[in-house]
Amino acid sequence: MKQDNNGTDFDYSNIEVMRAEEEWQRAGAYSVRVEGMNRQHHIPLREEFDEHDGPGTKYIVLLDDLYPVATCRFYDAGGGTANVGRVVVLPEYRGKGLGEIAMGEAEKWIRELGYKNMGVDSRIQAVGFYEKLGFSLSDPETYYSGPFECRRMQKELQKEEEMIKILVSECLYGGRVVRYDGGEVPETHPTFLKWKEEGRLIPICPEVFGGLPTPRPDSQRQGDKVTACTGVDVTEEYTKGALEAVRLAKENNVAFCIMKQDSPSCGSKFIYDGTFTDTKIPGQGLAVEMLRDAGFKVFAEEDIDEAADYLAGLE
Ligand code: SF4
Repeated sequence: MKQDNNGTDFDYSNIEVMRAEEEWQRAGAYSVRVEGMNRQHHIPLREEFDEHDGPGTKYIVLLDDLYPVATCRFYDAGGGTANVGRVVVLPEYRGKGLGEIAMGEAEKWIRELGYKNMGVDSRIQAVGFYEKLGFSLSDPETYYSGPFECRRMQKELQKEEEMIKILVSECLYGGRVVRYDGGEVPETHPTFLKWKEEGRLIPICPEVFGGLPTPRPDSQRQGDKVTACTGVDVTEEYTKGALEAVRLAKENNVAFCIMKQDSPSCGSKFIYDGTFTDTKIPGQGLAVEMLRDAGFKVFAEEDIDEAADYLAGLE
């Protein structure tokens, strides 16, 4: 169970993201639009469903358990551009990031289909939402689409191989459980999620690379040694994993790294002092030390805004 943007607990594990290719799945998209637009905003059915709703259009549908709760669509707009729109989330599901999830899946699909750009006709109130996803205004004019004041926005899709890559701790990336305690700490900063959608992030877990199981005993670093709370010396495994992290950073030509705070592998400012008394001291994990020695800049997850400025300076 995680908290949504309003601080309310929400079980994201029940959310299923579907690429709607069959009629019954498209019916899910339509039902969300009937509830969320046609009914809530009194948009006539004829206007909500336009000439772009047809066989050539692709739909994303999010189900909560069994029921459709969010959707978006995209269609070919010519010139290598896919137009995305009709991003609708049921009123009771707003503030949970479901629109971002639907857009992320649409972008993934659009990239796979080889488009170079994404376009969107954004309602004035939603311009900030699309800016967070990497869109920018492409036309100074405001215009009306039905009852809504809109702006035209665009996002250029870089090819993955041309993108500046970032090495990240896999526990921040999410998706696979790798932490020593079997817990999850996926990063939810919008910039981090945008980078993830773009395919910029290279997730690595030095401790798993070192051959250690998940879960595993808590371990702490003291000088050059890493010791588990059981008293077992695990320096060899930590070193092996750190070397693999450096190898992958070089192989992917990453510009910098974002690593989980306080870990004996990934900590970049503080680590636990090796006494297992919950005492933190200034220091760095073994993988971070080796990454820095190899010339890579490392940020902690709390410094993502700073990392974004650094990336902007490189592009
Ligand atoms: S080694 Fe790094 S990536 Fe792996 S669980 Fe620990 S902090 Fe996360």
